[in-house]
Parts: sequence; structure tokens; C-alpha cells
Amino acid sequence: MLEKKPVILVIDDEESMRDSCSQALTRVGFRAETAEDGSIGLEKVKETKPDLVLIDLKMPGISGIDVLEKVKEIDPNIISVVITGYATVESAVEAMKKGAYDFLPKPFTPEELRIIINRGLERRELILETESLRKEKKLIEDNFITMVSHQLQSPLVAIQQFFEVILGGMVGEVQEKQKEMITRSRDRMDGLLKLIDDWLDVARLDSGQIVDNIEPLSLKKVIKKIIEDMRPLTQDDNISLELGSCSENDLVQGDKETLEQVFSNLITNAIRYNKPKGKVVITIKENEDFISAEVKDTGIGIAKEHLPFIFDQFYRVKRGEDHKIKGTGLGLSIAKKIVEAHGGSVQVSSELGKGSSFTVLLPKA
Ligand code: ADP
Repeated sequence: MLEKKPVILVIDDEESMRDSCSQALTRVGFRAETAEDGSIGLEKVKETKPDLVLIDLKMPGISGIDVLEKVKEIDPNIISVVITGYATVESAVEAMKKGAYDFLPKPFTPEELRIIINRGLERRELILETESLRKEKKLIEDNFITMVSHQLQSPLVAIQQFFEVILGGMVGEVQEKQKEMITRSRDRMDGLLKLIDDWLDVARLDSGQIVDNIEPLSLKKVIKKIIEDMRPLTQDDNISLELGSCSENDLVQGDKETLEQVFSNLITNAIRYNKPKGKVVITIKENEDFISAEVKDTGIGIAKEHLPFIFDQFYRVKRGEDHKIKGTGLGLSIAKKIVEAHGGSVQVSSELGKGSSFTVLLPKA
């Protein structure tokens, strides 16, 4: 139940109608407010913040339909019920289309009025409850992001630093066996911190943060930077990493930081899931509405049955060769979310044992 007395505003030019409604409503415990025309009515909507408004459709001055629309603009959660004469059933239908919750044909009894009002108020309660749950959910999500970043990340980083101090021999000699165990602990901690990092990105993306600085960008510039950042990863397996052909127009509407993350994820994967002496080539093309960037590798590829799932959160392909490759299974889902937040898309094609190709389509600047 609503805690305070529900407020019902009656907007009708007929005095007898306002009085009889007012009496019937007060008698059952509501607070009734009245207005003799649309403009006074709208003032009263702002002033008294009613739970429900009864609007006569046929009034001199602003029409009932216009009043209805304005009430929705002031507060979309106010329930509107329209009062109609016999001849105005069509306008009742129009009013319902414009967001009225119900209509009450004239003449009506106090009992009919109460039934409709009670139904409308139940509806309002439901709407308000949903609204407050939605707000609560958003608050929990926002708190979650802050909680994870401060309370989880900081102690883990501190532990990691202690490991480094011990491994560096700064607090006494470390025996071989101890060194091995602490190194493993440190590596596991690295993995955990990476997972938290990715997870935070997912949470920020889901709550609509992150992609907030969209401007015209040269995709070639973004990718060149990432290629240089990723170069050290290619050394162990002697992988060649290069920018192939690029269209003259490479300007996209993008957020630099998050697009760097997209290509960092895709290019890291193309290197990690490659074969020794394999290749990674990135090409940029101009299409009608989009600029596309393809990251193509000659790596281990992805079997058909896994392809539909690789963009899902935490999905990792289980197979012999990449068992040793560490990951969170979040990289591609983050890349996809970022690209979609830009109004673009990511496509994949792959052949097991031959290689994969990931194509990002981004709206042209
Ligand atoms: P992660 O790499 O952390 O496991 P991703 O979301 O980046 O998570 O990728 C999901 C899965 O897709 C990976 O586990 C991997 O098996 C597969 N995958 C992604 N990129 C490639 C690629 N270029 N070649 C082969 N497999 C890939």
C-alpha cells in the first residue's frame, strides 16, 4: 500500500462533476484536488504531485488529450484516466493510445469511479516499485564496481609487491623450492588481477560507462600504436606482425581508449593462438557506411562448433595445444561490447589448424 493518502486530481470544467467526484473520493480516504480547466490542472499537477489524474476529454481551452500528453511529460509515472461523454468513444481510444491508463464513460456511479481509481493506483504502485528496484540495482552495480576496484584490487597488488620483494632476495636468501612456489603464486596473482581488470571493464561497459569520448579517429593510427605495443609478445614464437593494405579513408567515429583495447585484445589473441613463425596481418578497408579492420592470423584456428560461443563471457575453447595459454575468457566479449557500443559489429571466420580472421566494422566519421 502507498504510505500517504493517495492524491487524485480531477480536471473537469463542470462544477457538479468536480464536486461529486471529490466527495466520492474523499469518502474512501483519498485526498481530492480539483481544477476547472486544463491549464489550472497542469499547474496543480506540478504543485500537488498527484498519483492519479482524472481528465475530462471535452473541455474549453486546452483539450483533454493535450492535458494528458502534458501530464505524461511532467511525470510519466502519473496514472491518467479520461472521462468521456457517450459521443466520444473514439477520443477515448485515442487517449488510450496516447498513454491514458483507462477511461470512464459518463455518467458513472461513485462505485464505478472507485473501482477504476483503485485499479489505477495498483498499477501506479507497481510502476513505482519497478522504478525503485531498477534504481537499487543500478546502485548495487555502481557500488560493485567501486568495491571491486578498491577493496579487492588494492590488497592483491600489495601481496604481489611482497612476492617481488621476497623474490628479489631483499628479505633474506630464498631457496630454490621456495622461489619456485612464490613465482607460481605471483603468476596466479597476475592471472587474478587480469581477471578483475577484465571483469571491471565488463561491469563498466554494462553500466554504460567507458565509451564516452567519441570523436573522428584514424583507425590506422590506433592500430599502429597497438602493433608497436604488442611487438614484444611476438618474439618468443618468432611471429611476424604487420599492417597490410589500408584504404585512404580510415576515419571512424570512435573512443580512442576503448578502440585501443579492442585491437589490443584481438591482436594479442592472434599472437597467442598462433603457431611458431606464424603471421598476423591487419588490413583496413572502406565500405559504404563502415570502415572495416581485419585481424588475420595463421594460427591454430577455432573449430566450427566453438565459433558461436567465443564472444560469450568466460568462454574458452578447451583443447590440447592452448591448454597452457592463460586467459580469462573475457577478452572477446569485452571487444564485442565496445564495438557494439560504437554502433559497429565484429565478425569471425576461422578454419581449424589454418588460422582465424576477426573483422571489426566501425561507423565512418
Ligand atoms: P581468452 O583468450 O582470455 O581465453 P577471449 O575471449 O579473448 O578469451 O577468447 C575466447 C576463446 O576464443 C579463447 O579461449 C580461444 O580459444 C579462442 N580464440 C580467440 N581468438 C583466437 C584466435 N585468434 N585464434 C584461435 N583461437 C582464438
